[in-house]
Amino acid sequence: MNPRSLFSRQEMLNMNIRTLEERGVSVEDIAEVAYAQQAKWTADVSKKDCVESVEKILSLRDTFHILQLGAEIDRLTEEKRIREPLREILHNDLGLFGIDELFGLELAGLFGTIGKTNFGDIDVNKPAIIEKLNTQGKEDENVCHTFLDDIVGAIAAAASTRVAQIANENEAKKDPRYKEIKLDFDL
Ligand code: MG
Repeated sequence: MNPRSLFSRQEMLNMNIRTLEERGVSVEDIAEVAYAQQAKWTADVSKKDCVESVEKILSLRDTFHILQLGAEIDRLTEEKRIREPLREILHNDLGLFGIDELFGLELAGLFGTIGKTNFGDIDVNKPAIIEKLNTQGKEDENVCHTFLDDIVGAIAAAASTRVAQIANENEAKKDPRYKEIKLDFDL
């Protein structure tokens, strides 16, 4: 069978989950960061909503491209299959490199300015799995998580923002003037 470049939402979700697991990250790890982030602002956040939002974001085509490319760059760096001096820059997670943060910002930006500010917060404070990935990448000579830590942080940021969007939509529904619109394409 010929290789494909277009996949369904379900296929992209499955491939993203598989890639994350290969790199040591679960949906629950990301949902935990999303939950902690949103719990700062909303009282009744549920873990289940966070998991659902993480899965939804993992099914988006933009997320698929960013995650697959970023994880692949990390893997190729570990396998020393990227030419110098780029390999050393990636392996050292050079602070001024910034392209990993660019991937993160782009992904989090799918959920607007608040997605980006949530990403900035997670990027600076490195909660839970983000700190684990960052430390592992720095301490283990054979591991590179230069792109993954930002991508995982951005998915958590986007998921927490999506949870807030849903909570606001539900609040808006209480107004008798509220009219629901049905969209063919579900984000
Ligand atoms: Mg990074």
